[in-house]
Amino acid sequence: MSGQSARISAATTVVGVMGDPISHSLSPLIHNSAFRSLGLDWVCVGFPTTQGHAPEAVRGIAALGMAGMSVTMPHKQAVIDSLDLLSDDARSLGAVNCIHVDRGRLVGHNTDGTGFVAAMHHDFGVGPEGKDCVVIGAGGAARSVVLALGRSGASSVTVVNRSRVRAEVAAALTPVGRIGTSADIPGCDVVINATPLGMEATTPGTTADGADPISVGDRGDLPCDPSMIREGHIVVDLVYEPLWTRWLRAAADRGARTSNGTSMLVHQAAVAFELWTGMSAPVTVMAEAVEDAVRARSG
Ligand code: NAP
Repeated sequence: MSGQSARISAATTVVGVMGDPISHSLSPLIHNSAFRSLGLDWVCVGFPTTQGHAPEAVRGIAALGMAGMSVTMPHKQAVIDSLDLLSDDARSLGAVNCIHVDRGRLVGHNTDGTGFVAAMHHDFGVGPEGKDCVVIGAGGAARSVVLALGRSGASSVTVVNRSRVRAEVAAALTPVGRIGTSADIPGCDVVINATPLGMEATTPGTTADGADPISVGDRGDLPCDPSMIREGHIVVDLVYEPLWTRWLRAAADRGARTSNGTSMLVHQAAVAFELWTGMSAPVTVMAEAVEDAVRARSG
């Protein structure tokens, strides 16, 4: 980092990440590793932005001559009214995770779904085309994945979520979407955990809408019983801290092809990098930076 600090000057192009809390964000680390490896006079910094202050923060992006901004909780919806244009994905999802200043106009994107599909191609050498996919979870990450899977030619996208109402919203994002249960897992091709299960202490059976829970997370921190995973399944866990959850290890032990959440994290950042700089992102460098940081955090 010291090499980069020495280069920062009044001519340095600035991008950032806004959110609250922000100090845990890996975005500056990912983007700065990429800028450094390509010798770009760019820097990415965190902007702690409290709830209710998204409109002023967004106005500041263009006013200060910044090239762009990543957006994280709690501002992914709140920034929308302050933008000039939205990408199709951002409009469909009602959420923005990347702002690009394009010839003075503030354009809102959602790079998560594109990042997920790019990560799948990178990690497995195949995309969602013709695949029967199960997405466990129906929150912001799950919705971006459901939309991208459907748009990329998946045969079916089955949403398995604790709360039925959110499952319905997610499944409706694609014509090939439907609601299912964990019984759909053994017969599918691709299984994705888009819940925080495995990352944090959980309270199985507590639903957001108070309805009877669909069978998810009923095995402690496991999104589904690993016995439902078979050899040849493609299994992706969007959780990246820890790098390898107990569920992902169990899936690998059963012969599944597995990938952790660092890949989507890196590839969604790569899409932002390419929007901002117009250059191809050095994804290998970015992935190494993330994995090193997560390993260091986990001690
Ligand atoms: P979110 O909007 O809060 O949604 C969380 C989802 O998980 C909801 O569908 C929720 O079900 C379900 N859930 C939570 N606790 C559960 C439990 N104990 N049992 C069963 N289901 C449970 O969160 P998000 O933003 O989508 O993030 C989800 C995960 O993806 C997080 O671990 C996050 O770190 C990760 N993520 C990774 C990336 C990446 O690039 N790798 C990007 C974004 C997010 P209900 O609807 O019933 O509440």
